[in-house]
Amino acid sequence: MHEMSLAEGMVTAVQEQSKLQNFRHVKRVILEIGALSHVDPHAMEFSFEAATRGTLMDGADLEILSPAGQARCFACDSDVTIERRGDGCPNCGSHQLIVTGGEDMKIKALEVV
Ligand SMILES: [Zn+2]
Repeated sequence: MHEMSLAEGMVTAVQEQSKLQNFRHVKRVILEIGALSHVDPHAMEFSFEAATRGTLMDGADLEILSPAGQARCFACDSDVTIERRGDGCPNCGSHQLIVTGGEDMKIKALEVV
């Protein structure tokens, strides 16, 4: 379950930020998990709770957004939205797609005190 190491990495990154920006507690985290990323939102919720326990993020609300996958289709030359890796182009059915977005996990916003 690599979500645990991602959650721990997130805590470390937020701790660094707290020193730079001088906040002591995080109340809310909005996390973006792209539809094409290999992160399971449910596993992330669980890992988040475990990884933040006893840290400045303890008790923070976690909100997860799942932006759709974005891809460029070379067959019909358009930008399309796909739900999962391996899907064909919704316009023309071609698989000549290059993924251009929705692959990452990132912190979209933090509400801090
Ligand atoms: Zn197409």
